Amino acid sequence: MVTFSSLISGSSGNSTLISDGRTHILTDCGMSGSKLKDALSAFGISPDNLSAILVTHEHIDHVRGVGVVARRYGTPIYATEKTIKNLNCGNIDDSLIHTITPDADFEIGTFGIRPFSIPHDAADPVGYSYFSQDEKFSLATDIGHMNDYILSNIMGSSRILLESNHDVDMLQFGTYPFPLKQRILSDVGHLSNENAAMTAYKLIQSGTKSIALGHLSNENNTPEIAHLETFNYLTQKGVSVGDDVRLQVAKRYGVTNI
Ligand SMILES: [Zn+2]
Ligand SMILES: [Zn+2]
Repeated sequence: MVTFSSLISGSSGNSTLISDGRTHILTDCGMSGSKLKDALSAFGISPDNLSAILVTHEHIDHVRGVGVVARRYGTPIYATEKTIKNLNCGNIDDSLIHTITPDADFEIGTFGIRPFSIPHDAADPVGYSYFSQDEKFSLATDIGHMNDYILSNIMGSSRILLESNHDVDMLQFGTYPFPLKQRILSDVGHLSNENAAMTAYKLIQSGTKSIALGHLSNENNTPEIAHLETFNYLTQKGVSVGDDVRLQVAKRYGVTNI
């Protein structure tokens, strides 16, 4: 059984683990080296044993610990060329850096990986699909808007971490300054609960069995509201949540097994 777990999720930090017991891949490390060590210990994994850290993009909530971990444990880093240029994580030995290209598959240990481009205000951001023997997993957060290209990449995932960043009304009527509201609502900002719900329905039709809604805004969302918006939409569409699909909200701090 492959472990696919969010270690932390939200504007304060993001990190996801996928492991089949032989290959342990971290995607993003938006936390300190010591917090990562604690989080991994719950899985019996030491940071020394990480096969790689994949990076989605250079925003601090995704890369805070990347430099420290790479230097301390000699962990290989995988990211697009522009992401690497913008990493700002201190010196990382060239031998640890692996440049990837959207849509170009590669392998790490026992996993196949496919990076796909996402519309987000970073240099060259990507989401990832991971392929083990007979299962596909996807990580799709920091997505300004859903499109057919992303959908085609994430369809058929049995398990997914899907962004459900904000409730549009909470954001519009909330206290964020106008430019920040515009940024989040823009095509290269973050995915709303409403769009997450519609995406979840399409995923379920493609066979998805477990969805964790993640990267929730602290100001403009709550776990209850995010869950309810998708739950209600799916229920209206005739999906029996709990039977047809497992739906949960990834914890801001703490492990969520997807
Ligand atoms: Zn970002
Ligand atoms: Zn982010």
